[in-house]
Amino acid sequence: MNILSFDIEEWALAKAEGYGTPEKYREYDAFLNYILDLLDSRKIKATFFCTGLMAKDFPSVVKLIQSRGHEIGCHSNVHTWMNKMTENEARKDTHTAVDVLEQCIGEKVLSYRAPAFSIGESNKWMFEILANEGIVNDSSIFPAERDFGGFPAFSSQRPCTIHYAGIRLKEFPISMTSVMGKQIAYSGGGYFRLFPLFFVRGRMKRIGYSMCYFHIEDLLSEKEGVSSKERYETYYKEPGTLKNRYIRYIKSNIGKKAALGKLERLINSEEFFNIEQSNVLIDWNNTNVIDL
Ligand SMILES: [Zn+2]
Repeated sequence: MNILSFDIEEWALAKAEGYGTPEKYREYDAFLNYILDLLDSRKIKATFFCTGLMAKDFPSVVKLIQSRGHEIGCHSNVHTWMNKMTENEARKDTHTAVDVLEQCIGEKVLSYRAPAFSIGESNKWMFEILANEGIVNDSSIFPAERDFGGFPAFSSQRPCTIHYAGIRLKEFPISMTSVMGKQIAYSGGGYFRLFPLFFVRGRMKRIGYSMCYFHIEDLLSEKEGVSSKERYETYYKEPGTLKNRYIRYIKSNIGKKAALGKLERLINSEEFFNIEQSNVLIDWNNTNVIDL
């Protein structure tokens, strides 16, 4: 089963960080329309995880996605990593985000993804917060080591049920594969850009469960410059040394030009579902239960 998801925060981030010009918004709008038309042409429904700030400041974008039949999930409120927040801050952020998204779309939000997959060992309490907000599906677990987080001790790389502090939640982890002994997320972000399509397709077929995930910025071919020290430190919350900033620049730009073409070919050749549809298709009695 292949699941298709997009994380939507670009408009709101551009506004918050001061580069939100009308041209920039038009560029994102055009890009989103292109993706929506592509999905329509294949009758594919995806899950779009949107931040609360998108629903607050750019409600027409969220409503447009919903009007085309896609699932709207929650992608936090302000797109700060959840593992950089205290439990109280995280509770407030999640409540605000779910509330504003539900007001925007007039429906219950059932699926959640933390920015940068930032739920791990240190903030497992996030699952309790999510359940309290009525979230039933989570897709925040990156079951390997990762910059800024990851959850390497998580023992399932396929859909499973999480038990934690008396609550239950369905988990759709990021799918991984082993390349030269290293766990790699082949079906989205930087590694999707890096690997040739035949490799990604081959792993998708072999593994049988793929969570594909994209940000619009992953696919736009325009190269962003190296972040200023100030912008880097605000966003990544680590020292903005020249080395750190160059590493991030390389990671976020590699293969961008080819990525959209690859995604288009993948969408044209494979079957995809969103989380809502997958939830119905999965035989949950035959999946793992993970006690955290
Ligand atoms: Zn994001």
